[in-house]
Amino acid sequence: MLQLDFHPTGRHFLQIPGPSPVPDRILRAMSLPTIDHRGPEFGALGRKVLGEIGQIFKTRQPVVIYPASGTGAWEAALTNVMSPGDHVLMYETGHFASLWIKMATRLGLQPEVMAYEGIDKHLPHAPSWRRGVQADMIEARLRKDTERRIKAVCVVHNETSTGVTSDIAAVRKAIDAAGHPALLMVDSISGLGCANLEHDAWGIDVTVSGSQKGLMLPPGISFNAVSQKAIEVSKTARLPKAFWAWDEIIEVNKSGYWPYTPNTNLLYGLSEALDMILGQGLDVVFARHQRWAAGVRAAVNAWGLPIQCADASVYSPVLTGVIMPEGVDADAVRKLIYERFDLSLGQGLGKLRGRMFRLGHLGDSNDLTLVAMVAGVEMGLKLSGVALEGSGVEAIMGHFADNPSQAVGQIDESRLRVA
Ligand SMILES: *Cc1c(COP(=O)(O)O)cnc(C)c1O
Repeated sequence: MLQLDFHPTGRHFLQIPGPSPVPDRILRAMSLPTIDHRGPEFGALGRKVLGEIGQIFKTRQPVVIYPASGTGAWEAALTNVMSPGDHVLMYETGHFASLWIKMATRLGLQPEVMAYEGIDKHLPHAPSWRRGVQADMIEARLRKDTERRIKAVCVVHNETSTGVTSDIAAVRKAIDAAGHPALLMVDSISGLGCANLEHDAWGIDVTVSGSQKGLMLPPGISFNAVSQKAIEVSKTARLPKAFWAWDEIIEVNKSGYWPYTPNTNLLYGLSEALDMILGQGLDVVFARHQRWAAGVRAAVNAWGLPIQCADASVYSPVLTGVIMPEGVDADAVRKLIYERFDLSLGQGLGKLRGRMFRLGHLGDSNDLTLVAMVAGVEMGLKLSGVALEGSGVEAIMGHFADNPSQAVGQIDESRLRVA
C-alpha cells in the first residue's frame, strides 16, 4: 500500500503561494455527496455560484467557470478572442508571464515581449522580474502601432513567481491614452481574493483566474471573466475552440447548468468560499492579506535579506520572495526546512531557480501560523549557515502585536442573537 499521508503529527505548513491551505469548512462542504449534474439540486447550486462569483471579480458581465487548472483558463482566454497570427503585446513580469507568452506562441499567435531593462544589483539577469508592469512603456508602444496590429495587451496582476502586484488600472489608462483598440487581458490567478481587482471599473476584457490561491479551494476550477467587447470579438475570432468556447457555456449557464459535466464537488467548495469571503467583505479580506504581508516583510527585513520585489509600491499581499546571498542554494535551504520542520516553501522558478524562495501568506492562515512559518524559515536559514542581521521572529511578532487586526476579536453582537 502506498502511504499517502506523508506528514508526521500536527498540521503540515503549506506556505507555498498556491495551492493555499484550504479551510476545514470548505473541505467539509466538498464532502457532500456528488449529485446529478442535470438534476434540480445542481441547478440551484449552479445558479448560486454563477450569481455570486461576479462580486469577487467586481463585474456584472458573465464569468465562465471551467473544470480545469489556471493554465486551461489562460488557453480559453486566448482561443476565444484571437485569430491565427495575431500580434499580442505581452509584458514579462516573471515566470508565469513567460509561460503565458510560451502558450501564445504554441497557439500560433505572435507575442511581442516587453520587459523592464534597467540595472539590478541583486539579479542583473532579471531586472523585469523585480518590478511591476511599466504602463508608460505600453503606452509608448501602442502609440507607435499606427496600423493597429496589436490585438491584445496581456499582463499578470499578481506575479506569483516574484511577489509583485502590477497596477492594472494604470495599464487601462495607458491603452486609452494611446487611443488603441487592443483588448486588455489580465491573469489574476493568484491576485483574485487577495488583492483588489475591478474587472468592470478597470475596463478589463478578459480576467483569468483559478481556484487554488486566494479563493482557498483545492486546484481544479478556473475562470474567465469577460467584457461585452470580448464577447463581440469572440464571434469572429478564428483560433479553434471547442471545450473552451464561451458561447455554449454562457448560454447553458443561464439556467445554472453546464454543457458538460462540471466539477460538482469543487462547486460546493466554491459556494462555501463565496459565503466566507463575501460574508467577511472583500475589503476586510484585502486588508488581512496586506497586514500579513507587512508582517512577513518585517521579518525578511530584520534578517537583512533582499525582498524579490524591488519596488515598495507594488509589494504583493499574496507572497513575499526572499533572495539568498550569492553562493547559497535556495533549494537546499527549502529542502532542509521541509525535512526538518514539515514546512513547504515556494521554489524559485525559471530565471530565479536556486536564487530565492517564496513565502505564501494566503489561504487558511492567521497571525500565529505566519509566526510559525517565519520561525521555521529562521531556523532553516541558521542551520544552512546564512548570516542573519537580526531575528525575523521578533520582528513579525512585534508587527502583529503593534498592528491589531481590524477583524479578529470584534464580535458583532447582533449576529449572535437568534431572530
Ligand atoms: C498558479 C498560477 C498560474 C498557473 O495556474 P495552474 O492552476 O497551475 O495551471 C498562472 N498564473 C499565475 C499568476 C499563477 O499564480
